[in-house]
Amino acid sequence: MSQKLKGIAASDGIALAPLYCLEKADLSFNTYYVKDPDREKERLLQAIEASKQEIDQLRSQACLTMGEEEAKVFDAHQLMLEDPEFLQAIYDKILNEHLNAEAALQQVCRFYLTSFEAMSENDYMKERSMDIRDVSQRLMAQLLGKQSKGSWQLNQPAIIVAHDLTPSDTAQLDPRFVKAFVTEVGGRTSHSAIMARSLGIPAIVGVKDLMVKVKGCQHGIVDAISGHFILKPSLDEQAVYQAKINQLDQESQQLQALIHKNTQSKDGVKVELAANIGRPEDLEMAIKNGAEGIGLYRTEFLYMDSDTMPSEEAQFKAYKFVLEKMAPKQVVVRTMDIGGDKTLPYMTMPQEMNPFLGYRAIRLCLDQEALFRMQLRALLRASIYGQLRIMFPMIASLDEFRQAKRIFESVKEELIQQGHSVSSDIQLGMMIEIPAAALLADHFAKEVDFFSIGTNDLIQYTMAADRMNERISYLYQPFNPSILRLIKFVIDAAHKEGKWVGMCGEMAGEAAAAPLLLAMGLDEFSMSAASILKQRHLIRKLDSQVGQSILDRILNETCTQEEVQRLLEAIIAES
Ligand code: PEP
Ligand code: MG
Repeated sequence: MSQKLKGIAASDGIALAPLYCLEKADLSFNTYYVKDPDREKERLLQAIEASKQEIDQLRSQACLTMGEEEAKVFDAHQLMLEDPEFLQAIYDKILNEHLNAEAALQQVCRFYLTSFEAMSENDYMKERSMDIRDVSQRLMAQLLGKQSKGSWQLNQPAIIVAHDLTPSDTAQLDPRFVKAFVTEVGGRTSHSAIMARSLGIPAIVGVKDLMVKVKGCQHGIVDAISGHFILKPSLDEQAVYQAKINQLDQESQQLQALIHKNTQSKDGVKVELAANIGRPEDLEMAIKNGAEGIGLYRTEFLYMDSDTMPSEEAQFKAYKFVLEKMAPKQVVVRTMDIGGDKTLPYMTMPQEMNPFLGYRAIRLCLDQEALFRMQLRALLRASIYGQLRIMFPMIASLDEFRQAKRIFESVKEELIQQGHSVSSDIQLGMMIEIPAAALLADHFAKEVDFFSIGTNDLIQYTMAADRMNERISYLYQPFNPSILRLIKFVIDAAHKEGKWVGMCGEMAGEAAAAPLLLAMGLDEFSMSAASILKQRHLIRKLDSQVGQSILDRILNETCTQEEVQRLLEAIIAES
């Protein structure tokens, strides 16, 4: 009998494939004293041998899939398991203090990590401490008889099933083999979901008790349109879903005809449909899907993908590549939005009760000015290669925007004095993702060149509902009149000052939002590449004013998100 689990559809699509479970091993253990230390040492030696074999296998797989250079990291891990000083320190704890092997291993690793991390400005030491963490986890898993977290070297199509996927886990997904992913936690706007959309991988998040229910299941169907994950599908179900997959393929073929068409409503109102990207590699999907520009380049991934702080040169190369490839279309680059769920392995971040309300994005950049200046230098140097727009994330007060702008001007001045060429046509804008900024949009509009509305955070902060928490995902309400009033206010305030407004939150790619955003006069819609052609197809069928009566209702009458949504869905169905 098949079993149907319900979750949140996070990235459209359907997949039918074998399951690949990524279980994070529970590596907790008890500390105790052993009666026979020699036998305990023998147990450790066996775990070391097994870990070496595991590393050997991973190395060969990595060599095939990523190349010799990338596989070298495993050589460092092998060397650690042969390092006489490291091993002797663990043996001593077992033989002299009679500690069990797990506790001995943990104590020695902690000692190494503390001394290495004290030298954290040294890149070599940073790499060594990452090796120690990795090797000690592998060894600990062996000692406890558990599988360490699965490797990503898939070599056949699979649906990835996991409790959670961090942004860096998701970054390693190889779309050639990953047919879909399903997680127990997360919401529609958690970053792994956003990345799945930009990679065009169907995804369902927030499936309750997923890891328990999936035990013993070999195959599944991900219906990331309705949000259902079907385990042990019957032959009939497989046939039905295969037919749906074929139909989706056909529809996407038909949409190809719109790639080079502009985006214009039935009554001739032109808007721009741009793509959100996280990495220069995402440009391919954006171009293939007919993006008219880049409305959000999330530069933090450049920092997250690296083991050390990327140099000005490395950043310059990435920005230049994107600007050149898109020229003469515009590219809106967002300065780094680190913090929240996006952390850097090489940057110590404070432990905070509420990281999403904490030290992040522009707050961190204004505090660590050297870091911010380096990014701005790289951007400004790259500016001559295309149409650069820069925006700052998480601006809450006018003062923050002014400070960021002052630093930008000072970096520009410095570069010019040093003889660098810098474009004279760089627009400077900000994201509207904090209600305080939305409510003061009329003040900000006098000082910015443009706004980009980040609905993912704007909804989270307006509704006071964590965007990653599946238990309260019912509060993620793009069509709540409070959100719609804020958006309308921002657009009107910008237009009054002759400035343009984009939207780069996920709402911009939602079909139901199109009639309202058109009626409000939004200038640019920026979304995951996979949504562009569908949204273009819809906008071309809509009259720009078709959402006006709903808009009037939101502004003047009492209504709920459900009522607004129903009215919008009726418009879509009729179009
Ligand atoms: C947003 O908040 O809407 C946004 C686009 O930024 P991010 O999703 O990266 O927080
Ligand atoms: Mg945001």
